[in-house]
Amino acid sequence: MGMTIIDGKQTAEEYKALLKQEVNVLVATGKRPPGLAILLIGNNGASETYVANKLKTCHDVGFNASLFRFENTVSENEILNCINELNFNSSIDGVIVQSPFPNHISPQKINEAIHPAKDVDGFHPMNAGRLQQNKPCYIAATPKGIMQLIEKYKIETQGKHCVVVGRSNIVGMPMSILLSRNSKPGNCTVTICHSKTVDLASYTKRADILIAAIGSPELITAAMVKEGAVVIDVGITRVADKATKSGYKLKGDIKYDEVAAKCSFITPVPGGVGPMTIIGLLQNTLLATKNAIYN
Ligand code: NAD
Repeated sequence: MGMTIIDGKQTAEEYKALLKQEVNVLVATGKRPPGLAILLIGNNGASETYVANKLKTCHDVGFNASLFRFENTVSENEILNCINELNFNSSIDGVIVQSPFPNHISPQKINEAIHPAKDVDGFHPMNAGRLQQNKPCYIAATPKGIMQLIEKYKIETQGKHCVVVGRSNIVGMPMSILLSRNSKPGNCTVTICHSKTVDLASYTKRADILIAAIGSPELITAAMVKEGAVVIDVGITRVADKATKSGYKLKGDIKYDEVAAKCSFITPVPGGVGPMTIIGLLQNTLLATKNAIYN
């Protein structure tokens, strides 16, 4: 049986071209391009990279992106005030705050401060609740990107058993909801596994579609995967590697080489889910510009 590597990078390029076209149409009809505000707290290396990629992709497709930088010691109130101003700023359509946050800043407070109509990360309870109820909403960017990969590669989901490992609000939870909804793609039977799951392998081995969103490099080995499964690797961890210029290597949650040999589809790290996450964010921002979800 053949194995297909899901090319997230190439797919993202195709979606980027579509986004660019849409921006051109907006501008040609006298409207301004989509406006995204990104708040970045501190100087976490991975966050710096993610934000730089988001800014670059915005630039490439013609979005206006503005970066708001804060010291690690910034107060929660200062962040909340900035969000509040952006909520009222008519040239800004979407507001996101790059995670992780310093311990003294509550992710819940931040997520709930962003106006649901500008919540292009889809983390506000209004959007998370509407997702669960199958209502129009901003879908969290990573699961949104994964659903588009599943669609593009014509992966059958109906009636399949999907195992999602990880239950975060950012990836695992919304992913499991999307795949279990009565939709296309969707209609899977979903099992959610997490850090308290006993005998993880007994579940993952039964997955037709396995989605790993753990953050534990190469935790999923070939012995834990069913022959012919579809394997989606969300994990990105920096692992020290003296042989590279940066001093680290990016590792997924899947032991790629041995798992690739027995599955039907697999996403590589990097170049799989990551590029599609940015696309999901930009698509949400475009929807916000058009007032497509809340009007
Ligand atoms: P998180 O830390 O919030 O959640 C991790 C989840 O994994 C938790 O629900 C936990 O219960 C579960 N878990 C931990 N150890 C486990 C174990 N041994 N067995 C089973 N489950 C276990 O992380 P997150 O924000 O959901 O991100 C997960 C990973 O995905 C990270 O590596 C992150 O960097 C990556 N990520 C990638 C993208 C992307 O664009 N590709 C986007 C977001 C997150």
